[in-house]
Amino acid sequence: MLPPLARRFVAGESAAAALEHARRLDKDGIGTILNLLGEHYHDRAPADADADAYCRLVEDIGTTDLRVCLSVKPTQLGLSVGEDVFRENLARVVEAATEQDAFVWLDMEDHTTTDATLDAFEHHAREHGDVGVCVQANLRRTPADLERLAPLPGKVRLVKGAYDPPASIAIQGQKAVDEAYRDLLASMFEHFDGGVAVGSHDPAMLAEAASLHDRYGTDYEIQMLMGVREGAQRELARHREVWQYVPHGSRWLSYFYRRLTENVGTASFALRALLSG
Ligand code: FAD
Repeated sequence: MLPPLARRFVAGESAAAALEHARRLDKDGIGTILNLLGEHYHDRAPADADADAYCRLVEDIGTTDLRVCLSVKPTQLGLSVGEDVFRENLARVVEAATEQDAFVWLDMEDHTTTDATLDAFEHHAREHGDVGVCVQANLRRTPADLERLAPLPGKVRLVKGAYDPPASIAIQGQKAVDEAYRDLLASMFEHFDGGVAVGSHDPAMLAEAASLHDRYGTDYEIQMLMGVREGAQRELARHREVWQYVPHGSRWLSYFYRRLTENVGTASFALRALLSG
């Protein structure tokens, strides 16, 4: 059972609870990116089980008229077991999603998974088009990756990067990462033919995206996490396309812990909530 504090960041343990949350977001004009919590599987069984769960989820999505898509993690679909397992499970999920006209995002995990994730994205983008992939501004390779992704169909979500890659391959320090994010965003607005997703809660990056949109006219969407700056999400949705990333499932503990530790604003919220019972 999900404790009250976690309910800010996780929609619930069941798919029904996640779709209920999507219904509420829909009323505010916000689309839902559903993620079933799970990652780093080293056995095939849980990876296959989560792929099955995603296939059932897209059938449930198909019974609604809500704007709902999926975001999956490569190691959740078996990348740590083997690239072939990941490819097979991803193909099943994308095929099921395509039947229901549901879009599938690929989250980007640590730097050891980047090549396999981009390769799988490219394969499905060329076949179906209705797929997206996340890239991380803190990786030095990302400018070159964006050159590869620009001509492909599908969408690309730019984030600052949630992992801690070694200094040899990653930009260090918040200021430098912010600078890289701005540069990459500018390159996406200039060279991408739509399909740009700004995955950030940072008002400075959102302002940058708005001014790049004015300059280049490129369409874009804003993506934020459930439980983070939700007032801003509702406000932005009045004149921009906004999607909320909504995790659900029984494996919520480590995700919830990450949300609490990554931001002072969130941590003080948690402290206040704990103190007030
Ligand atoms: P930060 O740099 O953390 O914060 C900058 C400013 O934003 C803060 O100073 C504050 O003004 C504002 N802000 C941020 N958080 C809060 C808050 N809780 N309350 C109030 N103000 C706040 N990372 C990956 O590596 N791979 C992924 O696949 C991935 N997918 C993501 C999908 C989505 C939809 C989002 C939003 C993020 C994703 N991330 C992913 C995480 C991302 O890499 C960052 O770690 C995370 O978004 C924090 O960076 P930021 O740009 O939001 O802002």
